[in-house]
Amino acid sequence: MGNMRNVGGVTSGLTAALTAPALAHQGTVADYSSGVRQSSKQDPTTQYPQPPFPPQRQEPPGLTSKMTPRPDHGETSYRGSGRLVGRKALITGGDSGIGRAAAIAFAREGADVAINYLPVEEPDAQEVIEFIQAEGRKAVAIPGDIRDENFCRKLVADAVHELDGLDILVNNAAAQVGQHSIMDLTTEQFDSTFKTNVYAMFWITKAAMPHLKPGATIINTSSVQAYNPSPSLLDYAQTKACIVSFTKSLAKQVAKQGIRVNAVAPGPFWTPLQPSSVQAPEELGTFGEETPLGRPGQPAELGPLYVLLASQESSYATGQVYGMSGGKGYP
Ligand code: NAD
Ligand code: MG
Repeated sequence: MGNMRNVGGVTSGLTAALTAPALAHQGTVADYSSGVRQSSKQDPTTQYPQPPFPPQRQEPPGLTSKMTPRPDHGETSYRGSGRLVGRKALITGGDSGIGRAAAIAFAREGADVAINYLPVEEPDAQEVIEFIQAEGRKAVAIPGDIRDENFCRKLVADAVHELDGLDILVNNAAAQVGQHSIMDLTTEQFDSTFKTNVYAMFWITKAAMPHLKPGATIINTSSVQAYNPSPSLLDYAQTKACIVSFTKSLAKQVAKQGIRVNAVAPGPFWTPLQPSSVQAPEELGTFGEETPLGRPGQPAELGPLYVLLASQESSYATGQVYGMSGGKGYP
């Protein structure tokens, strides 16, 4: 683990990802080929797939290619405007879901991007590497398990070495496994969830601090679960609350160094985390239905927020938590 590779030249995955009907569902084939669909004025309730969703379940951490419909990460819709030119970013969980949307958006805004993920997620990671390289930016793939402190230190060291510095750190990786009763929640799962979601954020941020200069930003992915926890996410929800406190405390600690720290608290988003968290395939059928907008968010809808928080445009924002949850939950 921890092998680092710069992957280049392969375009098959990218081509497949672009030509696959990313959001073919219930007879509706979304056409993103013009690249303007996301920014054009439209009804947000029908902009993306709505429940019911076909039954599906995957073993954690799950793969993008096995999701129906396939999530949209802004592959064909996100347009950059030079907001992160020359910046160097490290994104954990950058292979899929929200981290993938951030990686694509950062690269389109001119940043070089390193992504971390688990070795079994290599196929997802390869697609992201190709999207970053397609923008002419440097892409660095660093697989490995962030539950290990030594790997976390190596991850940051390798990213800094390959990118020749670090300006943006996105602590986004997480584990989520639902258990309907506290009696079924094992010490092993509790420990693993906290190692992935909380300890790794601490270890990676600590390793990154000596490299961050004034103007650098840290973005942590929290959740509505921090504010309105689900009964079946007893361990996960606590870690997401930890992330809010960590963000606000660290923001105060490093403000005088000119480093900003913020968090994003998403509601239900259509990512591999969800089919690999449910216990029964049917549980995902109504995913997102309870929100006022009546559907889950797509990762593409979060890319612009991560760009805003990474860029100098959010210069007065630190210690803040930004919600994106379809009208339900906090903040
Ligand atoms: P995702 O599965 O695409 O991303 C999570 C990533 O975490 C995985 O891709 C994997 O690479 C990484 N990961 C998990 N365990 C790891 C380990 N031990 N070592 C290294 N990497 C590991 O799902 P996502 O929904 O995009 O998740 C991204 C973030 O968004 C997470 O922090 C999650 O808690 C948060 N979030 C998601 C939702 C949602 O509904 N999808 C809602 C609120 C918050
Ligand atoms: Mg993944």
